[in-house]
Amino acid sequence: MRTGIAVEEARRLVLDGIAPLPPETVTVPGALGRVLAVAVTAGRTLPPADCSAMDGYALRAADLAGATRAAARELALAFEVAAGASAPRALRPGEAARIFTGAPLPEGADSVVMQEDTEAAGARVRFFAAPGPGEHVRAAGEDVRAGETVLEPGTRLGPPHVGVLASLGRSFVRVHRRPRVAILSGGDELVEPDEDVAGGRIVASNAWSLAAACTEAGALATQLGIARDTPRDLERSLRAGLASDVLVSSAGVSVGDHDHVRPVLEKLGCRLVFWGVEMKPGYPVTFGRFEEGTGPLVFALPGNPVSALVTFEQFVRPALLRLAGRRTLARPVLRARLGETLRKKAGRCHFVRVTLARESEGFVARSTGNQSSGVLRSLALAHGLLVFPAEATELAAGSAADVQVLVADVLAGPEPV
Ligand code: AMP
Ligand code: MG
Repeated sequence: MRTGIAVEEARRLVLDGIAPLPPETVTVPGALGRVLAVAVTAGRTLPPADCSAMDGYALRAADLAGATRAAARELALAFEVAAGASAPRALRPGEAARIFTGAPLPEGADSVVMQEDTEAAGARVRFFAAPGPGEHVRAAGEDVRAGETVLEPGTRLGPPHVGVLASLGRSFVRVHRRPRVAILSGGDELVEPDEDVAGGRIVASNAWSLAAACTEAGALATQLGIARDTPRDLERSLRAGLASDVLVSSAGVSVGDHDHVRPVLEKLGCRLVFWGVEMKPGYPVTFGRFEEGTGPLVFALPGNPVSALVTFEQFVRPALLRLAGRRTLARPVLRARLGETLRKKAGRCHFVRVTLARESEGFVARSTGNQSSGVLRSLALAHGLLVFPAEATELAAGSAADVQVLVADVLAGPEPV
């Protein structure tokens, strides 16, 4: 087991050897946010035929060469084509067909003049503009050609992808299975939210914040409840999570007399990969794995509420995203100037909870206040985590630092631009 390692090294140890979960089939309407496990190849061409992009008239561009408002041209009105219909015959030279958006272009026509540049005159139509060839025509296959790969594996399905799949006539799609995460809290002082907190008890809020973080990362969280600080009770509770893909516990990983999580994990057959990462908050974070296929990835997070979520961010979230098939594992990172000077000792990387404000010269980061790992409000108020590198001892006001953005809203202004 490694100990006292850097954040990047710990992240590498976690991510190396994690492969996306096997595929499953889901309905296309239910596939939002899921990650494609296969390439999607088009079984049809879209649009299937040349069609009009405007309400107007289909014609041969050559018939209107030189037409302007001052020198209008007239063509004979031959027939009409509505969306969903087809032309009764080919268009002859000197003719125009009334056409509507989405209707197939009649054979013989090569362009469309929009209604606004025309005037109906009985059986004839007057044109005030000369179209270029192909103008206002959606060419067959300009979106997708049959046989072409349209979506690559690893694509996270958003609204346009759902639309693309639907337009290809697909009702089902193969996506990576979502990771199943079992969550355990450990501690004699812990109670459920609706229980009495008299006598120094506290709510096991990590169970809920970590479950929410799992859900946000696209995973399926289940609760194993609260284990007491005895090896027996911990073992019983941890066993219940061994069938999941990922086991996340909080507390009981420090060096206190009641911290039994690590020995119990080892007893269950988990190989501890690291304990102790040079970071603050979160030093005691522990990661272990079972022999391939015999048990879950195990993250034993520290108990302090901020430590639990910050270590989740750095290690569990990227692991869940990789299991779910995602290719981008990091949060967006932006460079921000410091609104105040920060100081610390060398040795550990600090994740400083900061607000971000868009000011004239870019984003300015300011601490959300008391950075104690017990003050969960410091995280609730934060837009991001400012990375104060391990070896640095001072970040002067006005200097720049990386911020992991947790709340993307901060990138937006109050109104759309
Ligand atoms: P420990 O790692 O067991 O020493 O716990 C560190 C701190 O985290 C203690 O103050 C605990 O009361 C607190 N804590 C432990 N588990 C949880 C939990 N599930 N939710 C909220 N706080 C917790
Ligand atoms: Mg404890």
